[in-house]
Amino acid sequence: MDVLGSIATVFDRAGFEIFLVGGSVRDRLLGRPFEDLDLATNARPPDIKRLLKQAKPDGIYEIGAKFGTIGATFAGTGVEVTTYRKEWYPTESRKPEVEFGDDLREDLARRDFTVNAIAQNISTGTIIDLFRGASDLARRRIKAVGNPSERFAEDPLRMLRAVRLAVQLDFDLEQRTARTIRGNAGRLQYISAERIRDELVKIVVSPRPDLGIAALFELGLMRFVIPELMDMPATEQDTTGHKHKDVLAHTLQVLAGVPAEPTLRLAALLHDVGKPKTKSIRNGRIHFYRHEDVGARMTREILQRLRVDSATVNEVTKLVALHMRSNLYTSDWSDGAVRRFIREVGDSRERLLILSRADITSYRPRRIEAGLVRVAELEARCQQLVGEADVERMDSPLDGNELIELFGRAPGPWIRPVKDYLLELVLDGELDQDDKEQAAILAREFQAGMSERANGEAKSSIEGEISAASDGAGAPVENARRS
Ligand code: ATP
Ligand code: MG
Repeated sequence: MDVLGSIATVFDRAGFEIFLVGGSVRDRLLGRPFEDLDLATNARPPDIKRLLKQAKPDGIYEIGAKFGTIGATFAGTGVEVTTYRKEWYPTESRKPEVEFGDDLREDLARRDFTVNAIAQNISTGTIIDLFRGASDLARRRIKAVGNPSERFAEDPLRMLRAVRLAVQLDFDLEQRTARTIRGNAGRLQYISAERIRDELVKIVVSPRPDLGIAALFELGLMRFVIPELMDMPATEQDTTGHKHKDVLAHTLQVLAGVPAEPTLRLAALLHDVGKPKTKSIRNGRIHFYRHEDVGARMTREILQRLRVDSATVNEVTKLVALHMRSNLYTSDWSDGAVRRFIREVGDSRERLLILSRADITSYRPRRIEAGLVRVAELEARCQQLVGEADVERMDSPLDGNELIELFGRAPGPWIRPVKDYLLELVLDGELDQDDKEQAAILAREFQAGMSERANGEAKSSIEGEISAASDGAGAPVENARRS
């Protein structure tokens, strides 16, 4: 079906201009697939609505009549028709948000980059290219329309859009455009977290997220996107090989190594964010103790600040917190240990294992091979155990009420350790989940042992006090500990 043809006909008949603009023209000329059709017209929103209805859409909706945009869908194709604008004010601006125009040239002149400022008449196919956008498409470069510093001052988000478009299209930044971004990066601080988030996510799910993130550092933009990452390039993490590798270089490799999905890409970007803060050197070796815990806290903070939806925040934070679990897997883990892993990671297992695979970035091919074998083994063992039983729903054979009855005791905090003990036995394969009889015997034993231990502890602490009082001078270790 010719969507554009029928739209062209109704607008023509009513005496209005209508052009394909922006990303749609750019992507058509590049032969890239495109999702939505962006159109610009001199008609005002009420007329746009009326005319679009005549073209018989499946649905029509206002994207924001005050921005002059009406959306419609035709057999699965989304179409957005916008009245010509005189200004492209950023949403943060205190100025009036939109001023409608009557002139296509004015509308194009306010667009961000030359490749985004080409228009095509949809009846005749004629291309209107006032800023040599087609030539920049051919040269594969992102170049600001007009004076770059004016353009970035009007809307600093354009600096981030430049990087985003470059990585989406595999283009370079034109030199003056790049230089101007470097000189104006600080203006990004005035931009709302939501707008920054949208561009960041697009960069991160692009075909070259590594180049995009590296460009944010290189252009000075990262400080205003995720300042927490600023210490990563200076944090060396490997002094054992002949090459030194910093946390950023490693992170970029992991980022490019996971599938293009927001959750996984964000987790890859942030998985080692806790390293700079936790770095220590002991016996000439570099350590990052508990960097996954520190990193998980930082991740949540970063993503919440960027107004990322809470489902994504939770999942990314979880992946960051857990990424060392799977990384530390070795063949000598018992089945019980693998079952505990399965339960701890829950629904995130598949993603976590993908992240673990990408996290193996040694210079030595044999090390990579060995790491991949390890992850594959963990995965196979998980599948095996999950196939045998519903590991995630394993539980103590006796619940709280049954334990209360068994021991004839009032409900209280004594129940939890007994239940935990029985569950551990089930996870270790030493007790059948349905074997209440055996569970009762083991629970009794455990309780008896508990009261013995409790008595023993009480006794030894009294003895300890007596001996400490009698021969304080004779115990150097005790003295050292107390001083
Ligand atoms: P895509 O939709 O594939 O992400 P796009 O180029 O269509 O890319 P949109 O954000 O949909 O990007 O914007 C549509 C068009 O509007 C752009 O091509 C550009 O011409 C113009 N535009 C968007 N944002 C700005 C801005 N901040 N400043 C100037 N022009 C802009
Ligand atoms: Mg678009």
